[in-house]
Amino acid sequence: MARQQSRDTAPELALRRRLWAAGLRFRLHYRALASSRCTVDIAFVRARVAVMVDGCFWHSCPEHGRLPSANHEWWQAKLARTKARDAQTAADLTTVGWLVLRVWEHEDPVEAANNIESAVRRRLAA
Ligand SMILES: [Zn+2]
Repeated sequence: MARQQSRDTAPELALRRRLWAAGLRFRLHYRALASSRCTVDIAFVRARVAVMVDGCFWHSCPEHGRLPSANHEWWQAKLARTKARDAQTAADLTTVGWLVLRVWEHEDPVEAANNIESAVRRRLAA
């Protein structure tokens, strides 16, 4: 089973292209928390909007997250740890003033980009 957790996946690239086309500028794999190794996939630093693009498998999407039947328990524990880490990172970011937006890789990139754009513009205007 060659499932690799990777950066710059196709859904993420599609989303980034839309955001860029909308005139938004952002940092990639941004380390927003000095105390943590976790990075923000797409970071709007001035607006403090952190976008996490989550793979359906790795982040246990309610629609497409499936546990492999081989090594079932090992995967269950591993994916539960990922989920807990996601929640902790989001909580830490929120504490220091970031708005955290999660996008599933199965989501329509156009719609996701529109939501992100309005959030960023709202925060910049505030
Ligand atoms: Zn999904």
